[in-house]
Amino acid sequence: MRCGLLGEKLSHSYSPQIHGMLWNYSYDLFEKSPEELADFLQGDDFDGCNVTIPYKKAVIPYCQLSETAKRLGAVNTLVRQSDGSLKGYNTDYFGFQSMVERSGLQVAGKKALVLGSGGASVTVCAVLQEFGAKVVVVSRTGENNYSNLHLHKDAAIIVNTTPVGMYPNTGISPLSLDEFPKLEGVLDLIYNPARTALLQAAEKRGLVAENGLWMLVAQAKKSAELFTGNQISDDVIGEIHGVLSTQMQNIILIGMPGCGKTTVGSILAERLGRKFVDADAVLAENAGMTIPEIFAKEGEAGFRARETCVLKEICKQSSLVIATGGGCVTRQENYDILRQNGKTVWLRRELDCLPTDGRPLSQANSLTDMYRIRKPLYEAFADISINNHGAPEDAVQQLLKQLQGED
Ligand code: NAP
Repeated sequence: MRCGLLGEKLSHSYSPQIHGMLWNYSYDLFEKSPEELADFLQGDDFDGCNVTIPYKKAVIPYCQLSETAKRLGAVNTLVRQSDGSLKGYNTDYFGFQSMVERSGLQVAGKKALVLGSGGASVTVCAVLQEFGAKVVVVSRTGENNYSNLHLHKDAAIIVNTTPVGMYPNTGISPLSLDEFPKLEGVLDLIYNPARTALLQAAEKRGLVAENGLWMLVAQAKKSAELFTGNQISDDVIGEIHGVLSTQMQNIILIGMPGCGKTTVGSILAERLGRKFVDADAVLAENAGMTIPEIFAKEGEAGFRARETCVLKEICKQSSLVIATGGGCVTRQENYDILRQNGKTVWLRRELDCLPTDGRPLSQANSLTDMYRIRKPLYEAFADISINNHGAPEDAVQQLLKQLQGED
């Protein structure tokens, strides 16, 4: 079978990998301009096809619609029939249904705010209504908008269907959660980064916070069933979700200066086939100065401001191994930056084994005093902690074991 994804710009798509784990049909990216659309749909290049931005409505005249696709006015799956015609389905509906179920949120009878009024919003609203929620669409230009959110203090669920916070413009949120004391959970259709600013705010309040990766995998599973005519177990959604979320998230090493972050990080990156990035090296290169020169010229405050800018650029990317400077934990704002798309690993090493050459702060202060201040910060930032008292290879092995154990 020949399957694939139709869209205008597809370079960052995870669909080929997801479908590769679902079934053994070929899966290609069909990047088409609006002028090429009619010929592509009427031609013979595919047996089954997913459809994404901006063609979910544009393909409708070319196919016979399933009930759900007709109701939502959008198609994300096309299946070639035996007579050569196309049938259009909407499997995003199943994808979001599955995401709500997985979140554990009980939405019946509760107010759900859906941010954004585009294509995904229509699907999300239909699912929430079917689950019995009282749905309110918040649109920049609608009756319910971002200036009258106080009318909805009783909202229990917020679903983000806007692109606000999505890579590369991470760290911004469509609204503040402070206005919603009854909130139980936030679902964000964005999956890159894994934790948008909106989801991080929800996590800090201890609320349910789920990104859109589950929905992406679930809709793909449903499409694969339609392409092949075979039923696929729902368990597969969790398996593929686990593989992808581990692969997409960065592994970020924190710890005292000289604890081995660069050495361990380089070995780990090689072992995992990932790119290694040393934040201090990027910082020095961007500045055109060595780290001691930056400290001498701009002081610690100047260095830290530069460090935060560099971390913002690096940590919003995916699948990297990142070594950070030892003091990055001293700025609270770096916490969200590091964790938006990554797992943070505290690399621990005995103080008398830490080198101080070329490290301005280690030379100017007692390492014991520095550690006393930073230890609680490393603890607060870290998801995992690893000892690096022996050979770096041992630390890498420990780390790989812990990362695998968590999957
Ligand atoms: P869309 O049709 O362009 O709709 C997005 C809506 O967001 C717009 O209609 C707009 O609504 C609002 N919006 C756009 N820019 C905004 C801004 N700067 N500030 C506030 N609101 C803004 O896109 P879509 O197809 O619905 O997709 C929306 C998001 O969902 C995308 O991030 C997409 O990647 C994601 N998605 C994920 C999955 C998944 O499987 N996880 C599936 C589908 C979509 P108003 O004009 O009413 O404010």
